[in-house]
Amino acid sequence: MSAFDAILVVDWSAANDRGETPVNNAVWSALWQPAGVEEPLYHRNRETAEAYLGDLIAAETAAGRRLLIGFDFPFGYPKGFAAKVTGSPDPLALWDWYAANLEDTPTSNSRFALAGGLNAMFLGIGPFWFNGLADDIADLPRRGTERVGHGMPERRAVEEIERGAFSVWQMGGAGSVGGQVMTGVAALSRLRARFPDDVAVWPFEAPDRAVVFAEVWPSLLNDQVHAETGENDIRDAVQVSVLARALGGLNGAGLDSLLADTGPEATEEGWILGAGKADVLALGASAPLLPKGTDWLPVDDALARIRDAIVPAGGRETVAAAQSGGRVLANPVTAARSNPPGANSAVDGYGVAAATIGAPPCTLPITPGRAAAGAPFAGSVPPGTALRILTGALLPEGVDTVLLDEEVSVEGDTLRRSKPVKPGANTRAAGEDVTAGAALFEVGHRVTPADLAIMAATGVTAVSVARPLRVGVLSTGLELVAPDPAAPPSQTFDANRSMLMEVLRRWGYEPVDLGIVADSRDALRDRLTEAAKDCDAVLTSGGASAGDEDHVSALLTTEGDPIAARVAIKPGRPLAVAHWQGTPVFALPGNPVAAFVCALIFARPALGRLAGEPWRAPQAFDVPAGFTKSKRPGRREYLRARIGADGRVETFSSEGSGRISGLSWADGLVELPDCALRIEPGVPVRYLPFSSFGL
Ligand code: AMP
Ligand code: MG
Repeated sequence: MSAFDAILVVDWSAANDRGETPVNNAVWSALWQPAGVEEPLYHRNRETAEAYLGDLIAAETAAGRRLLIGFDFPFGYPKGFAAKVTGSPDPLALWDWYAANLEDTPTSNSRFALAGGLNAMFLGIGPFWFNGLADDIADLPRRGTERVGHGMPERRAVEEIERGAFSVWQMGGAGSVGGQVMTGVAALSRLRARFPDDVAVWPFEAPDRAVVFAEVWPSLLNDQVHAETGENDIRDAVQVSVLARALGGLNGAGLDSLLADTGPEATEEGWILGAGKADVLALGASAPLLPKGTDWLPVDDALARIRDAIVPAGGRETVAAAQSGGRVLANPVTAARSNPPGANSAVDGYGVAAATIGAPPCTLPITPGRAAAGAPFAGSVPPGTALRILTGALLPEGVDTVLLDEEVSVEGDTLRRSKPVKPGANTRAAGEDVTAGAALFEVGHRVTPADLAIMAATGVTAVSVARPLRVGVLSTGLELVAPDPAAPPSQTFDANRSMLMEVLRRWGYEPVDLGIVADSRDALRDRLTEAAKDCDAVLTSGGASAGDEDHVSALLTTEGDPIAARVAIKPGRPLAVAHWQGTPVFALPGNPVAAFVCALIFARPALGRLAGEPWRAPQAFDVPAGFTKSKRPGRREYLRARIGADGRVETFSSEGSGRISGLSWADGLVELPDCALRIEPGVPVRYLPFSSFGL
């Protein structure tokens, strides 16, 4: 399911018009969008709130955006109530019943009278109770304890999980929801009727429409709300704001998993979004683990910028097809001849003309001679006779069908057969795989070992391929030296250069060793300028964040043409990409784990494009998690991972990006989305094997 473009949280109210000045116990709403949560809105009464909702839905659907709206009242009643009232267990029919039967204006509503009328449909006393008016109302007890024999369950199934939630039967008093349900579902019924194709009501309907209504319960975030409510704050306003932030933080896979999570009777009684998962909602509300004060670029946005900025390097040469493995095609390739070139036998057996041999059981004379691969039968096979033929032999004239050895018996020059055969059986038609002139590969295709086979089979001898890229690899940092047993611990052995050069080799490029430069801006500038002349692209590592010693990013942003920087990714936040005198430079983080991940995620598709390939995303697989993890919102994470013996994907014991050994332990990465998420064992996660990155 696609993520929502906006999320609105609404705190409903059964109270009459609350006046112009914002106060508690009115309708409040807060709107989340990717940029953050807007200032909460005060709606003095339900009429103005309903108008606001209608306008918002109209605007968002017109703009083609997806909108989730959470309402803080139950969407249904305990099992059995709807059928008793409307004759149908469909909770949405009950919504329409309320819309038709409740009178509601900003200054009064008929909810108490309606509750009494509903009670009259039941035996005994109840189930509704509480009378907020001075006059007695027929059939509506003032106290819950007066109720008897009405036969309705006191609570919905979801309220057994969230014990603190109020019963829908209580029509008034602090915290009660009975009046909110009646007025709320009546309003939502009208909104559904106004937008019949756009609104889905969760969990009664699949949440796959443009607008989804869901029941929420802000009390799930009481701790956060309490911590964030100042002395002069209106609690309702803080509540909707915190819950909107939480749902926004989970927007994407995190929210999808909450929407997939309902319990017993949900299709009739409704369900609270996040019931029993207060800790997951709290994760959504938590702050991202990213330094404040900068805008962090989402990974997808960084990839889009890189994709727009990188253009193919150009340059081509003609090579023998057999030598073109791993190269990128600069021209389309078409088959020079058909495969197979002529009709031939798929088995060892006897060739016949199917129409001339009569029905089995019967005998056939065997024509002398035989047809074998590379040794065709020169003559024509007379009708009503059979010729010995072997796998791969061209079908001689007079043969259109081959009888399997296993289905005939031969005595001297006579063949006996007992089974029927389909005309054309056990033969291969000329060109049935590929016909001469057919397109084999498009420009930009990278030649695989299998491609060498089909090119050879179809007579392709030479192809035009893009010049292989020369990609420079430079390590930066005063601490770096080549591995040396005599080096003091203050020096770090350069681990990135050999790793990145081998990665490039495996991608089919020519790595150029640019050595190590210390953290000197002048030395870096000179080395990059030299490299820009000699190389099609450069991978640097180290010095990519905004620290004092981070000359690479400083240099690239001030003297180069920046493409992307400050990416919301773990590991690898310091990544920067820029053109340096026209040459793309990928300033990877110094940490080997982060350098490796960023090379795979950013440099691979970019270098592919530079080399003439189409932009490619790695092939990913949904694999059940063999680990537990709580992830905060705000950045994408890549975990070193491998497939365990039980077929689940495990992650490396430490997420520390200094743990280089974890890269050798892993056979791929788990990619966790930008949103907050809780992963339990068995939940499918996105696994990207290293082979998906061409390694
Ligand atoms: P930097 O991105 O320069 O801040 O580096 C982050 C960390 O990675 C530091 O601990 C560096 O010493 C380390 N580092 C940087 N480059 C390399 C490298 N080529 N090999 C091993 N460690 C490195
Ligand atoms: Mg450094």
